This record gives sequence, structure tokens and C-alpha cells, in this order.
Amino acid sequence: MTTTTRAMAAPSAGAPFEAVTIERRALRPNDVRIKIAYAGICHSDIHQVREEWGTALFPMVPGHEIAGEVTEIGEAVTAYQIGDRVGVGCMVDSCGECEMCRADYENFCTEGATWTYNDTYPDGEVAFGGYSQEVIVAEHFALRIPDGIALDVAAPLLCAGVTVFNPLKRWGAGPGTKVAVIGMGGLGHMAVKIAAAMGAEVTVLSQSMSKEADGRAFGAVDYRATADGSVFKELSGTFDIIINTVSVDVPLDRYLRLLRPFGAVVNVGLPTNPQQVRISSLIGGDKVLTGSNIGGIAVTQEMLDFCAEHGIGATIETISADEVDAAYDRVVGSDVRYRFVIDVSTIPAE
Ligand code: NAP
Ligand code: ZN
Repeated sequence: MTTTTRAMAAPSAGAPFEAVTIERRALRPNDVRIKIAYAGICHSDIHQVREEWGTALFPMVPGHEIAGEVTEIGEAVTAYQIGDRVGVGCMVDSCGECEMCRADYENFCTEGATWTYNDTYPDGEVAFGGYSQEVIVAEHFALRIPDGIALDVAAPLLCAGVTVFNPLKRWGAGPGTKVAVIGMGGLGHMAVKIAAAMGAEVTVLSQSMSKEADGRAFGAVDYRATADGSVFKELSGTFDIIINTVSVDVPLDRYLRLLRPFGAVVNVGLPTNPQQVRISSLIGGDKVLTGSNIGGIAVTQEMLDFCAEHGIGATIETISADEVDAAYDRVVGSDVRYRFVIDVSTIPAE
């Protein structure tokens, strides 16, 4: 039997959010029902609600940084029990059989993964995300939130955390390496905390010095303002890895010059425009310009366990459901310290 739950939906592109009632599917044998406590606001939510990445599906219930508790399990569920603390990230389904799924890259499923919102399941069910009070997912797409992390500060790890943990791991962040993080917002502040916990020497490259004290508290040993162009001379040839979290265009050639030979600029920020780069910026020093897409389920669980072990959660501002529109404007204005998290119990009843 299907059930209903309350949610915050954008009725059309860029329109203000409104409280609505949505349907959740009947529980299948492999499904868990999750009572959501908190949902983070990712800049990707804003890109999609505002159709900055192309045509989107409306009404849209965004939210792919979900934390809550299991309230019901299907008869074939083995990994979870009622009462377990769980999260859901950017994906809710994949074929489970292709080469990519078998190698723990469900996000690159050759049949196409189903994203947590602004997407439809293969059977036509519309995926509604975490700005809601309940969600049902296949147990494979639920993550265990370790006891050491509170649900509110855990929620942003489900996207922001794994999106930076995955490339930091892949490109070898650790003792003896120098990592720079461009932009200290939701993803950026997690990159600083995680890279520092991995043992790397971390520098923040922010637009201004206004968040320097926070950056150092998160574990950075250096903090620079890119508005002051002298940083591009002073730090030339310094970094092994640069994680670019900025959601708009940045001068990539200038950042490539900050790499040591063989270093990598990893783009996780997703600007709308095509970018330009001089190939000579790559050839001088065999440099890498690459991207990274969230992470599969296994690496997401690894990230959560790593964060628990190192006492890492997101640094958040908790908001109520009626503050989502204002929060979007503040994120776009780089006025977020450092992730907005919606307390979904504040979504008004019908
Ligand atoms: P966010 O909280 O808005 O952080 C972005 C940061 O970029 C800002 O805090 C700001 O940091 C900096 N910035 C903003 N405008 C800038 C400008 N005009 N010039 C230079 N720097 C600027 O966003 P987020 O949630 O971290 O997401 C960042 C991007 O990653 C988005 O495009 C999002 O869609 C994308 N994303 C990608 C993946 C993936 O799988 N690859 C996953 C999640 C999100 P300072 O104030 O420090 O300069
Ligand atoms: Zn996200």
C-alpha cells in the first residue's frame, strides 16, 4: 500500500517552495522506510530547481543529503533493523549487474543510476528527495550513520562529504602531500576537514580572507584570498592536488600553474558554461585536469566511517522548512556557514 508524507516542493523552475503531500511507494521486500530528521541543502539542489543544468522535472522535492532512522523494513532486508540510524545520498537505484555496479561505481551504472530526485525510476516512479518527512529506498542505497556522528551534522556528508573524500583518496591525499581547496562552502569546508584528517597540508583558496579563522579551525595551515592576484605568483608550483568546488567559472590556467609537476586539478564544482584551458598549462609538468562525481555506495560508507573515526561532521546552520528560499539566496551569495540543514519536522501539516 502506498503512503503519503509531507514535503517541500518547488512547483516550477525557480518558484518559491511550498509544503505539499507526496506519495511514497508500497514497501518492497528489499526496501527500508526511513523517517527523515534532517536534509542538507546542496548547491546542486539550487542548480536543478533553477534549471541551470537544463530542463528539470516539476514539481521537484530536492534533497540528497538525508539523515534519519529506519521505521520499517521489507521482509528480505538483512542489513538494517528498525531504529538504525541511516542516510541516503545522491542515488536510490541502479541495475546492480553491470560492470560498473559490480565494481562499486553505481553512480556510473551503464543502465543509468536513478538519482534521488529530479529523476524517474525505470518503472516510471518519480523520485522525490529528502526535503520531506519520509523516504523509501532499497537497502543497498541506505548508508549506516555511525553512532559517533549526530544526524544533523551527518546529513551533509551524504553528498558533500563523499564528493570530496572520493577524489582526495583517489589522488593520494595524505602525509607529505599539499592540497589546495578552491572555495570554502559546503563541499569546500568538508574537503578541508577531510584532507587535514588524511594528513595532508591544506591551503584554502577563497575569494576573500573573511573565513580565515574557520578555515584554520577546520585544519588548514594556510589561507589565501584569490582576489589578491599575488597568491598565483607566491604559490606557483606548490600543490599535489587542487580540489575546485566553485559552482561558477574560475581561471583554470592560473590554478594549473599552482600545481607541482604531475599534480591534479580535480573539478567537483559544476558550472553551467563550457570552460577554456590552454593545453600548454597541462603539458608543462604533465599535469592532470579532471573531474569527480560523488562516489559509489561502498566509498560513501568508507567516508562515513572515516568521519566518525576522526570526529568529523559538517559545520551547519539548521533552518526550518519556511526558510529554504532564503537559504538558497544565501548559498548563491557565498553566505553559508557552511551547510544549511533543514529540520524536516518543521514542514507544516496539511
Ligand atoms: P557552495 O556551498 O555554494 O560553495 C561554493 C563556494 O565557491 C562558495 O562558498 C565560495 O567560496 C566559492 N564561490 C562562489 N562563487 C564564487 C565566485 N564567483 N568566484 C569564486 N568562488 C566562488 O556550493 P557546494 O554545495 O559546495 O557545491 C559546489 C559545487 O559543486 C556546485 O556546483 C555543485 O553543484 C557541485 N557539486 C558537485 C558534485 C559532484 O559530484 N561533482 C557533488 C555535489 C555538488 P568562498 O567564499 O570561499 O570563495
Ligand atoms: Zn549534492
